[in-house]
Amino acid sequence: MIGSDLGLIHAGLKGDLLGAFEAALQGSDFVGGATVERFEAAWADYCGVAHAVSTSSGTSALELALRALGIGEGHEVLVPTNTFFATVSAVVRTGATPVYCDVDARTLLVNVEQAGTRITHRTRAIIVVHLYGNMCDVTAARSLADAHGLILLEDAAQAHGASWHGQRSGPFGHVACYSFYPGKNLGALGDAGAVVSDDAALAQTVRALRDHGRCGAARDVHDLIGSTERMDAIQAAFLYTKLPYLDGWNDRRREIAALYLALLPLDRVKPVAEASGARCVYHQFVVQVGDRDTVRERLRSRGVDARIHYPVPCHRQPASVRLFGPASLPVAEAASSRILSLPCCPSLSDSAVEQVAEAVRDVC
Ligand SMILES: *Cc1c(COP(=O)(O)O)cnc(C)c1O
Repeated sequence: MIGSDLGLIHAGLKGDLLGAFEAALQGSDFVGGATVERFEAAWADYCGVAHAVSTSSGTSALELALRALGIGEGHEVLVPTNTFFATVSAVVRTGATPVYCDVDARTLLVNVEQAGTRITHRTRAIIVVHLYGNMCDVTAARSLADAHGLILLEDAAQAHGASWHGQRSGPFGHVACYSFYPGKNLGALGDAGAVVSDDAALAQTVRALRDHGRCGAARDVHDLIGSTERMDAIQAAFLYTKLPYLDGWNDRRREIAALYLALLPLDRVKPVAEASGARCVYHQFVVQVGDRDTVRERLRSRGVDARIHYPVPCHRQPASVRLFGPASLPVAEAASSRILSLPCCPSLSDSAVEQVAEAVRDVC
């Protein structure tokens, strides 16, 4: 089956990863410590921000960032409905209410102009999601946030190293959140995440929240009600080992996308557009196609593992409908029955990409 193959990516790094494991075993510093701090410094530097605070997952990064910014009960947070459900559940877990925004039909990213019409006196923040490795119009989002005194949060869980007019994701809002789930563009060998920000006080609060509410060096002083949402040192060691390869992997994802654009029958399948001003890192290569479920089945029978991100928009998920009732977001709803993610993993060969494109030409 042609699809994503993490095994192939890690095969070339086996010696380095085993070395990282051995060092962790010898150091016995399994939670926090120098290994974690070394990765945090490298990640902050990569994103072009002052502070990175590692967490146990992308979801905990989102929730802790929102809580550290004082978002909770009685507040509304604007979120695109076309995203992984964790963007929404993080908001709900703080006690705030997600207010869904529809997406642009070409990029399937949040329609910032329309989001502006959903602002009320309760709105505190807007979350833009750089979905599929693409970048939202962060210039427009920042103007909107500034005009209304809102916090801007980048959910960059799919956009490690994606850039907007030459600058990488991370520094455009008050805070940005990353996931290092194994399948992301930079993935750990387990769950991990990070919050990045130029705001030192915010970073300090997230550090306390992820570690039982402890601030600074005093082990027995709990300033806040926190939890256990730290990154394991061993994951930090693996991530530090993999980070130097991220740009090369992203370049390879872009080559694969360019090959698809050259080979696919563009009269029958419509690729999601790279936003103008953005350098997409193709976490997914997504096309829109009629009769999607049949196309997907036929591709599967020809050895192509195509997926759907995401088949049900967040506002239609049972947990959301139960809490917030039904909503209508027509662009995202129409797209959800047409979108199909073709294999796009740095380990794919040109010939595998050609095979996928040929299979698409045959079945569409
Ligand atoms: C993966 C992802 C998350 C959640 O990250 P986890 O590490 O799985 O908790 C949040 N938002 C988006 C857009 C994601 O793709």
